[in-house]
Amino acid sequence: MSPPPDNFYADWRPRFGVGNVLRDENDPPPEHLLQAIWRHQRLRRDRLQTADGKSVRVLHPGFVSVEGGPDFRGAVIQIGDAAPCSGDVEIDLRVNGWRAHGHDRNPDFKNVLLHVVWDNVGVHALASAKPPAQPGSACPIHRRTIPQRGIELQPLPPTLVVNDKLDAPIAELGLWLENESPRVLPENLRGQCCVVLRELDETRQGRILDSAARVRFQAKAGLFRARARHAGWEQALWEGLFRALGYKHNIWPMQNLAELRPRWTRGADPAFALQARLFGISGLLPVELPRAQAGSDGYLRRIWDCWWRERDEFSDCILPRAVWKFHGLRPANHPQRRLALAAHWLAAGNLIQKLERWCASSIGEGRCDGDAGISRTATRPSSQALVDSLRKILEVERDEFWSWHWTFRSARLKKPQPLLGDARVTDLAVNVILPWLWTRAAEGKNGRLQRVIEHRYAVWPQAEDNSILKLARQRLLGVGRSRALRSASAQQGLIQITRDFCAHSNAVCENCRFPELARSWSANPET
Ligand code: SF4
Repeated sequence: MSPPPDNFYADWRPRFGVGNVLRDENDPPPEHLLQAIWRHQRLRRDRLQTADGKSVRVLHPGFVSVEGGPDFRGAVIQIGDAAPCSGDVEIDLRVNGWRAHGHDRNPDFKNVLLHVVWDNVGVHALASAKPPAQPGSACPIHRRTIPQRGIELQPLPPTLVVNDKLDAPIAELGLWLENESPRVLPENLRGQCCVVLRELDETRQGRILDSAARVRFQAKAGLFRARARHAGWEQALWEGLFRALGYKHNIWPMQNLAELRPRWTRGADPAFALQARLFGISGLLPVELPRAQAGSDGYLRRIWDCWWRERDEFSDCILPRAVWKFHGLRPANHPQRRLALAAHWLAAGNLIQKLERWCASSIGEGRCDGDAGISRTATRPSSQALVDSLRKILEVERDEFWSWHWTFRSARLKKPQPLLGDARVTDLAVNVILPWLWTRAAEGKNGRLQRVIEHRYAVWPQAEDNSILKLARQRLLGVGRSRALRSASAQQGLIQITRDFCAHSNAVCENCRFPELARSWSANPET
């Protein structure tokens, strides 16, 4: 689209290279533009056909994947006469990208329904004996490591070539889509419940979220109760804490370590000795430091000296390093650092007593009047006071090594960094500490304490944002931010709705009862 001659601003853009996504008209567009075209379906949708001539009906293009793997997850697509299927979509500029990027060797790509490509250049090369990318090397485009040998090859999914199916010239699409954030869900891809929820005022939205959050809280509490029956309350708490320290990537190796706690805590009191055992058993102890850090490896050497003497005793329970996931981890969430922190908690030996005292004390929450309970209109300072008070219990004043390093291999930091930030304190509170304390209070028939804990859960400030919440906010509430999501419990409620309803439906909300339930509740919210 040429700019109108009298529009000086439009004239600046090509002259100064602003928004010039296509340097040469014969070049394929950048992959992010092709992804935006797919996401917004800027295609002549009635003409879509696979390379082998089957019609393609896109019922939903899927949701942008933010955690690696195929570009779009949960698309709903009908190919030829087959029934519509839910699965993933991978976008590549060229058809040979399937092999060149190692997708054929990556099990994450086994649910790809459709391979969307710009043109069919390379299709013949793909059919010929072109060697696949070297296993173990990094894919130059996606910067993901191509898995090692021994993994089943994923067959090439049906291919859809789109360069002749655009609904407008590529330069015009580039102008429209270049500023599109891939994180913003287009209006027409929102969930069917979005209309209903958006019509509710903030209070009613909040009531739905709070009710869902209570279900989630009680489910977590039930998990602790069940585990405590077999392993005791203390062990159930430690397993919860370790799982939470594993964040989403490393929950299971952390759980495994926590299950072995009675064994590896025996006879190792100082934090340093516990760190040595935990690093050794976890399989996270590096064999050697790179040469550049040879001068600062005293800590690692001492850890090795300590672990060396005990290794045989624990040889049957050492985890293989391969069970840990490091892709996409922030340095502060590295499991080595989390284990160092847990070792301090265990060495102190009084964490549980401190948590119980914290639970029984009043922290700017006003009064709790017996059966009348506590008003839920807590002020912001009291919410932050809760976080501060719990952080004081959980934080470690200083660790000789881990206050100064993100991992064993990282260089010494200029300033010491805390082993625990507010975001992790909130995760631990909402997912572990409050549900554990609440279910203990319930077992002890202490209704007053239960209400104190429920109040803390209800007013705890919001947790760190994540990709699940971002998508849920846009899909269900139709907003990037929401006042109804100011607390961690409201966020938990939203996650619970997605688990209960979205996870049992598909991207087009097939057979989902939530819109109908929300609509009928909103007509009579006192029921
Ligand atoms: S599946 Fe149900 S809850 Fe999820 S977005 Fe669709 S209508 Fe809403």
